[in-house]
Amino acid sequence: MVKFWGVLGSIACPSQQHLKYGGNTSCVEVMIDDQPAAILDCGTGVHGLGAEFLRREIKHATVLMSHTHWDHINGFPFFAPVFRKDCSLAIYAGHLHERGGIQQVLADHLEQPLFPVPLELMGVRKDFNDFQPGTSFDIGNQIKVRTTKLNHPGGATAYRLEKDGAAVC
Ligand SMILES: [Zn+2]
Repeated sequence: MVKFWGVLGSIACPSQQHLKYGGNTSCVEVMIDDQPAAILDCGTGVHGLGAEFLRREIKHATVLMSHTHWDHINGFPFFAPVFRKDCSLAIYAGHLHERGGIQQVLADHLEQPLFPVPLELMGVRKDFNDFQPGTSFDIGNQIKVRTTKLNHPGGATAYRLEKDGAAVC
């Protein structure tokens, strides 16, 4: 199952004209066999997903970042599990291996005076993974992830999740 928690680009728009598809920025949840497989991007849509994770008592998530423009990461500090020491996140990015990596980019984004809670004080266990686009890797539960480079300012990565002969891109 694929659930779109946020579909807008650039900026969240909580106005009446956005009621049909929702006013949040990019966040997609992929579920396989009723288990969370991956979160694609952490736009403002990930806020609602975080509440859902707590309700369902989900303790681990794999986060696949397409890229790190604001509209794809601004929900990250509002994803409730980031403040839980009993939760863990595996965070992947394919466009930052020559720019200090995803950990550094998120830390810079969450630093004073831009945000009050620095990344290192967020209690969730964090495992950061930078890779070259084009590589493949496993994210557990026999789910294989293939990646490729996208044409986007600053770089971006596309993901294909495969399991048991089925795939979603
Ligand atoms: Zn972008």
